[in-house]
Formats: sequence, C-alpha cells, structure tokens
Amino acid sequence: MPLYDCSKCPGYCCSYPLIALDKRDVQRLAKHHGMSFEAARKAFTKKEHGRQYAMRRKKDEHYGKICRFFDTKERRCTIYTARPSVCRSFPGEGKCGYYEFLKFERNAQDDPEFVALTDHSD
Ligand code: SF4
Ligand code: SF4
Repeated sequence: MPLYDCSKCPGYCCSYPLIALDKRDVQRLAKHHGMSFEAARKAFTKKEHGRQYAMRRKKDEHYGKICRFFDTKERRCTIYTARPSVCRSFPGEGKCGYYEFLKFERNAQDDPEFVALTDHSD
C-alpha cells in the first residue's frame, strides 16, 4: 500500500526534465489518440538527453516545465490509462521522497496547500 497521496501533490514527478519513453510507450500513445506511430512520435516526443523518445513538455507555474499531458489546473495526468511505463512504476513501493518533504513542510508551515517550488525548466 503506497504511503503517499498523488491527489494531494502538485505533480512533482511529472516535471522531471527527462520522461523517457520506449517504442511501446509511443505505440500506446498513438493507439490512445487514434494516430499513427509516426504522428504520435512527432506530436508527443522528441530526441533529448541521448534518448530516441523523450516526452515533450510545456510551461508550468510551479516547476518551470512539466509533461505535455499534465493538466496544470487540475494537477493530474490526462492520459492515465495510456501513460508510459516509467510513470506506472514510479516511485515504487512504499514512500515517495517528495511527498514526505511536502508533508513535512505543510505541517511545519501549518499550510496544507504549501507547494515546494522547484524549477525543473532546465
Ligand atoms: S511526486 Fe510523489 S506524490 Fe507527487 S505525484 Fe509523483 S508519486 Fe505522487
Ligand atoms: S504521462 Fe501522465 S503520469 Fe506520466 S509524466 Fe505525463 S502527466 Fe505525469
């Protein structure tokens, strides 16, 4: 059972500079959007950090940049069922380091809405 609650987090892990995809991830995105592999590759990915497929990102008020599929108002993933494998496995069993930090700061500052600003715009 996870010891973190993504619904109370502004989506830190979706702001990582590299969201690495593999071919199956791009295929899943293509199917989800009713597009060809090539159209999905062009629309949603770019070559970055030495990777063939990296998720395109967009501007975000908290973290500088964030995944193009992140809803920056609702603070959630818009393609949950078609999300890449790296998103499915993160952060693994148990705790999320960022959530622990958020909980600590929200408690220390007596502010349940506190968001730790981290510029991941690179
Ligand atoms: S940083 Fe942690 S708590 Fe926040 S959305 Fe990602 S996994 Fe969930
Ligand atoms: S696909 Fe969804 S879960 Fe993965 S980084 Fe983008 S918004 Fe976050």
